[in-house]
Amino acid sequence: MRAAMFYGVGELEVTQLPVPAPGSGDVLLRVAACGVCGTDHHIYHGEFATRPPLIIGHEYAGIVEAVGDGVTDLEPGMRIAIDPNISCGICRPCQRDQVHMCRNLTALGVDQDGGFAEYSLAPRTQCYPLPEGVSLLEGAMVEPVACCVHGIDLAGIRAGDTVAIIGGGAIGQILAQLARLQGASYLVLSDPVASRREMALRLGADAVIDPTVDEPLATGGTLEGGVDVVIEAVGSARTTAQAIDWAAPGATVLWFGVTPPGDVVPVEPNLIFQKELTIRGARINPHTHGRALALLASGRLAVGELITQQISLEALPKLLSDGSPHQIKSVVTPWPDSVV
Ligand SMILES: [Zn+2]
Ligand SMILES: [Zn+2]
Repeated sequence: MRAAMFYGVGELEVTQLPVPAPGSGDVLLRVAACGVCGTDHHIYHGEFATRPPLIIGHEYAGIVEAVGDGVTDLEPGMRIAIDPNISCGICRPCQRDQVHMCRNLTALGVDQDGGFAEYSLAPRTQCYPLPEGVSLLEGAMVEPVACCVHGIDLAGIRAGDTVAIIGGGAIGQILAQLARLQGASYLVLSDPVASRREMALRLGADAVIDPTVDEPLATGGTLEGGVDVVIEAVGSARTTAQAIDWAAPGATVLWFGVTPPGDVVPVEPNLIFQKELTIRGARINPHTHGRALALLASGRLAVGELITQQISLEALPKLLSDGSPHQIKSVVTPWPDSVV
């Protein structure tokens, strides 16, 4: 099979490998689509520790090709999406139902071979059958949606709240739609890229901000005095600080974007006190795949149009080295000419 193998910082090559055989409890998946995530960029550029050589890619869906011993409820031909995050079930966080904090957490495509390949192995426990009506391409979006569902749980949006999303990438666009579903009375999304702002307006934002020119809180409009829930979905020190600046009294600020380890932002404790702000993080997707799939099946969450380009495995190294700031979501379809 062809697979995009990560050999070290800046080194990703499409390589021929034998198709892996499913062991006990495993499922062999013919990968239909695997999304390119910020984490893949971080791994490629050495900002996220892994142990190469490794097939990266953790946002994927495909068709069951074969199953190992003990897998009795899935069979070849079934369409499934993968939850890449594997918890141990026995450490203290796992016992406290914080599987996403598992001390022994590993992830397909980050610590173990993942989805930028024609085939991928996954434990049965990580496989979620796709509901009818959800395409394999949309299946590649289940993992990021599951992460956003967890974030929205923690953001605590109440009906009637004003909500600001900083960042209009795929994550920001999903969070914005979920904020609407939670009952936001006014939703604003900020991104310097015009096509992302246009996408947000199409998907239901009430207003958009170009942070390079607009001063949203100085307009005297709906946002004067700050926003009830601010969600940072970029992952930079500048925007995490901006999220605090935008918070209204009593607001929740959710830092969802992954900032590089070691980055710090100045926080004025007196401001947190005076405004009674809640600042919190949200990490991956504990037990949220089921709800993510239910949302996709319902048609209430648009993810298909967030996929602005499909690329081959061979195009992936250039994409990771150059970046793609004007795309919203790039998805690798590893099989030439396959329809997903
Ligand atoms: Zn991801
Ligand atoms: Zn654990």
